[in-house]
Amino acid sequence: MANTYYCHDCSIKRWGANHNHTTTNLTGSTYTLGKFLKHTIPPPLSGSPIVSVFNDGDYPKYSGYVVNAMASGSTEVDYQGRRNVIWYAGKDVGVLYSGSTFTASTDTVKVVLAHDATKVHPFSVESGPLLTETCTDCGRPIIA
Ligand SMILES: [Zn+2]
Repeated sequence: MANTYYCHDCSIKRWGANHNHTTTNLTGSTYTLGKFLKHTIPPPLSGSPIVSVFNDGDYPKYSGYVVNAMASGSTEVDYQGRRNVIWYAGKDVGVLYSGSTFTASTDTVKVVLAHDATKVHPFSVESGPLLTETCTDCGRPIIA
């Protein structure tokens, strides 16, 4: 089953208050704390071959990215029903590393596993490779 996409308005209609992480503790589980450290401490310590790190690693800023994304981003639902939310920030929010080498600036926030408060976390991506998809419910074009 292919991924499906929903614009922000249709995301709110479908998931309502569940599409909101304003009060979620984004470092409240071992998993999410690990993701917070991975995506806020440069140079990357994660050992991942490619990782993005937010420009500002303060927790309020980090949680703000999630709140903003959920407040205006569009949603991708993958074949397992997992929800990821993409929000184009329109400015540089982080940098992408390959190993410990800077490779690009990132201007888009992706909040993954948005359906699970124990796993939801943001990281930044480049908008360039993103594609235009169509909202399943209303047909509006969205980036995803
Ligand atoms: Zn829509």
